[in-house]
Amino acid sequence: MYRAFLPRQCDTELLKKIVALEAQAEQIFNTHRSLVNGTRITENEVRYILAGSTDSASVEAAWKGYMEVGGKVRGHLRKLVALRNQAARQLGFTDYYSMRLTLQEIDKDELFRLFDELDDLTRGPFVALKAKIDATRAAHFGIPHAALRPWHYGDLFFQDPIGTGASALNELYADRDPVKLARTYYAGMGMDVDDILARSDLYEKPGKDPHAFAADIDRAGDVRILCNMKPNLYWMDTILHELGHAVYDKYIADDVPFILRTQSHAMATEGVATVLGTMAKNEDWLVHALELSPQEAGAAAAAAREATAVEKLIFSRWAQVMVRFEQAMYGYPDQDLGGLWWDLKKRYQLLNPPDDPSRPDYGAKTHIVGTPAYYHNYMLGDLFACQLHDYIAAEVLGVDDPDKTSFFGRKEAGDYLRKAVFAPGNLYSWKELVRRTTGKPLSAKAFVRRCVPTKPEDKERSP
Ligand SMILES: [Zn+2]
Repeated sequence: MYRAFLPRQCDTELLKKIVALEAQAEQIFNTHRSLVNGTRITENEVRYILAGSTDSASVEAAWKGYMEVGGKVRGHLRKLVALRNQAARQLGFTDYYSMRLTLQEIDKDELFRLFDELDDLTRGPFVALKAKIDATRAAHFGIPHAALRPWHYGDLFFQDPIGTGASALNELYADRDPVKLARTYYAGMGMDVDDILARSDLYEKPGKDPHAFAADIDRAGDVRILCNMKPNLYWMDTILHELGHAVYDKYIADDVPFILRTQSHAMATEGVATVLGTMAKNEDWLVHALELSPQEAGAAAAAAREATAVEKLIFSRWAQVMVRFEQAMYGYPDQDLGGLWWDLKKRYQLLNPPDDPSRPDYGAKTHIVGTPAYYHNYMLGDLFACQLHDYIAAEVLGVDDPDKTSFFGRKEAGDYLRKAVFAPGNLYSWKELVRRTTGKPLSAKAFVRRCVPTKPEDKERSP
């Protein structure tokens, strides 16, 4: 209760100003259309050009058109950072970032130690991957390596992989019913999701939110998800993921008091949802859920494993930029933020900056403005997901290679999740929960094992 109520204990006039500025900035994001070669286009159209075009001038124009929103919100962001810092200082914190971390039960030094560990373990593999990506992208656009700029990497922030590594897998889902598959999967782990699905809104409709989420309506069993189901890999992963959030909420024990009848932490529920969503690309899942022959499943899963490794590696380097940028921005708001942004993008993502590195491109990432001091939770959730999966595979199911189990039909895995992770609700801090459920503190090791191909000698050395 203390942590939930503390941030609202500062001057109410100040809070009103912050809320008004946030609303204005959000409105700017919602109505921004990128001016590209004289035409205003949507974010989806920008993404389409960045992902598919082979013309260097076109991707540059699309990228710069989108990034204009950073310039439009720069003034709002500058004021927001000052006001958020002012509010945090009224409550006794050095700055807003430190306050948010404290309220999220995160020790700043520990967080940055973890991100340093992640940086150390991923830098080498990322340098190698980036060299391959650069060769592919330079050839794709027919330009020299030295001419590669941030708009050549297939998306706005170089946070997702470009290729089509999982496309073979996508086809396997073309004539399947992901809702039915998800129901069977959860039932096999002893978790009934029929009631959740019956209350949920699963298919596309005009005017409906095009994304997906899970919501615990009353902390008394009314849990629902929203999806826009299509028979493909993306929606298979997504419905497994959202149901992961939903079963977490559903199976919190009845005797946990109302105020604690919620997940332990954002990273904990994201971790669980990620473990279960990722199963859509798991070999054991393909054999059992899709009833593929081991040969078919093996080939598809090998491609998927590679694609997942690339995805995790690229995301982890991008998360470094986000986390370090926010921390430095709230610490020293008057510095050259554009310069800081492009320094970090160069150091962690190995990107060449655009011609004018003082551009306010940082403002174009909505989280910086509207979901402040939260991004680290995505990364922590993924580290937890890998560590939890490995623990359940080895200690609960007795499987040597964690990649060889999807928990399909394994009620013991479901029982463990229910009893150890879900039942306590928010009785334990996230750190205590990680220790209790995986036997050790959170580290980057299990995550890194998935990003980096294991050498045979490494395998022999591990216990
Ligand atoms: Zn999620």
